[in-house]
Amino acid sequence: MSFFRNVSVISLPSSVWPFLALLGLALALAVYPAPLSNPVSLYFGSPIKGIIVALDPGHGGIDSGTHYEAILLEKEIVLEVGLELRRLLEQAGAQVMITRVKDEELSYHFPDSGLARHRRDIRGRVKLINSSQADLLISLHVNSIHDPTVRGPIAFYSAGNPESKRLAAAVHNALNPLFSTDAKPGQLVHQDPQESSAYYLLNETAMPGIILEIGFMTNTDDRRMLEKGSSRHEIARAIFLGVLDYVYGNTEPAEGSP
Ligand SMILES: [Zn+2]
Repeated sequence: MSFFRNVSVISLPSSVWPFLALLGLALALAVYPAPLSNPVSLYFGSPIKGIIVALDPGHGGIDSGTHYEAILLEKEIVLEVGLELRRLLEQAGAQVMITRVKDEELSYHFPDSGLARHRRDIRGRVKLINSSQADLLISLHVNSIHDPTVRGPIAFYSAGNPESKRLAAAVHNALNPLFSTDAKPGQLVHQDPQESSAYYLLNETAMPGIILEIGFMTNTDDRRMLEKGSSRHEIARAIFLGVLDYVYGNTEPAEGSP
C-alpha cells in the first residue's frame, strides 16, 4: 500500500507556480541575509552587536611586507583577508575600524615628525587603533623564515595580558584545522600562540590584541593557500569564528596564563 494514496495533491493553475517560486526565494533571502553559499553567515540576529573590533592589515604602499618572486605580496594578502573579515564581523553586528582599505601605508598621520617612514607608519596605526576605542585588535601579517618546512599560523599575544592570550588561543584554535589537515611528515606546523613583548603595536595599544601571522610565505603548502582568493576567505572565516569564540568566552586561557 502506498503512503501517497491518501495524500491529496493541491491543484493550481500553471501560471501560479512561477509566482510561488519567486515568493519562496524572497522568503529564503529574508531569512539568510548573506550569500547562501557562505555557511558562516547562517545565524540569526546580531551575535556580536556592540563589540568594536580594530583590524590592521599590515604594511601597504611602498612597504610590501614579505613576498614571493614579486608576484605574491604580504600587503595584498592581508588586505583581502582583512576586508573579508570586516564584512563577516559587520554582518554579525560588530562595529569595525580597519586601518586601511587600500594599498597605502599610514605614515601620513605624522607628516612632519622627523621620524623615519616606517616609524611614522606604525605610529599612524597605533593612533587609529587607540582612537577607535575597540574591544579587541587583530593585526594581520604573513610570516617568512629560512626553513621552508615550517608552516602554519602564529598568533602573538601581549606578555602579561590574559585577555590578549585568550584572544590568541581562540583565533589559533579556529585557524589550526586549515593548516594541519594536510601536514606532511617532517613539517613543523605551528599549533600554539606565542607570547611576545617585542611588538610596538601590542605594547602601545590599549585593548587586548594579537599580531596574527596567517601562514608562511616560505612554505609551499602555505603559499598555495595564501595565493588563492577562496583560501583567503576561508582564513577570514576561521578568524571570525575565533573572535566569536573569544567574545562568548568559550576559550579558556592555556595553563600557566599570567
Ligand atoms: Zn608583516
